[in-house]
Amino acid sequence: MITRSAVTVDSLTWQEQLASSIRDPKQLLDMLGLSHSLLDGALNAHGDFPLRVPHSYLQRIAIGDPNDPLLRQVLPLGDELLAAPGYSEDPLKEQVANPIAGLIHKYHGRVLLIVSPNCAINCRYCFRRHFPYQDNKPSRHEWQAALEYIAGDDSISEVIYSGGDPLAASDKQLQWLTQQVAQINHVKRLRVHTRLPIVIPSRVTDSCLQWLTETRLKTSMVIHSNHPNELDTAVAGALTRLKDAGVTLLNQTVLLADVNDDLSVLQQLSERLFDVGVLPYYLHQLDRIQGAAHFEVSDIKARQLVAELMATLPGYLVPKLVREIPDAQNKVPLL
Ligand SMILES: *Cc1c(COP(=O)(O)O)cnc(C)c1O
Ligand code: SF4
Repeated sequence: MITRSAVTVDSLTWQEQLASSIRDPKQLLDMLGLSHSLLDGALNAHGDFPLRVPHSYLQRIAIGDPNDPLLRQVLPLGDELLAAPGYSEDPLKEQVANPIAGLIHKYHGRVLLIVSPNCAINCRYCFRRHFPYQDNKPSRHEWQAALEYIAGDDSISEVIYSGGDPLAASDKQLQWLTQQVAQINHVKRLRVHTRLPIVIPSRVTDSCLQWLTETRLKTSMVIHSNHPNELDTAVAGALTRLKDAGVTLLNQTVLLADVNDDLSVLQQLSERLFDVGVLPYYLHQLDRIQGAAHFEVSDIKARQLVAELMATLPGYLVPKLVREIPDAQNKVPLL
């Protein structure tokens, strides 16, 4: 008997869910009834970038299917260790655009704050898998330098909480930081880039809604969902709470081979997002991070998929296909 419901996730707080995440490749394979032939590769790749998947996400993965699109996003594979030409450890050169601990200022008018180095889930394709987060964990005292930087540049109208996953930080910290940011007059907007409402929907707590809504800043949240199977009823509930609180909801997706490089999957994702109150924003071509080459989708296929989406969906349900290029002033559209 497969006992993947042994942990009743609904009764756990989000912090308990984080703490009880699966981090052992053998346990993951056993819980999903998968063959140990995947184990050697999983253990090797796990040594490079560890497995991490919470039970609430695991519940949405099918039993016995090694090709499940959610499983592919989290299961370490031996392929990750193959060197691939053009793939590197810092493809976005963010380590250069990082003048102050915890702050990245690459684009006009917007700064990213690395609010939490942690994530609730480790996505195998992640462009931050090699980021030196140890150097980017500012304390309250150290946030002063980042806040002074923002205060000193009145072209900055938007502050983006990023990570890792910013919602891995406590609401107390997020409330404090938001109050500090709101004191800077030229900042108008606060944006939160997070995958947590998808991975652990109970993260959308009352205290989370409180700091998001009590501020004078206009707030938006860019969630990160790659597949319609991720958007179950618990996630829909969390997103509805955010939307009802007045948070503008957008989604970004990474185009991933054998996860979502398929017209019908992308159509269903857009439709389902709209059903739960979210508009598609970006469809990203993969960043060429060492370990992710097996997820690459060619630009020709990517453009073809978006052309087919445009031919079948209302314009507002078609995400912008973009790639991040290190020295560009913005995300670069693939036309
Ligand atoms: C993606 C990104 C932003 C936000 O870009 P938008 O096009 O406004 O979504 C800002 N700064 C950095 C460093 C980014 O990577
Ligand atoms: S949640 Fe985001 S930052 Fe964290 S591993 Fe996944 S893609 Fe990367």
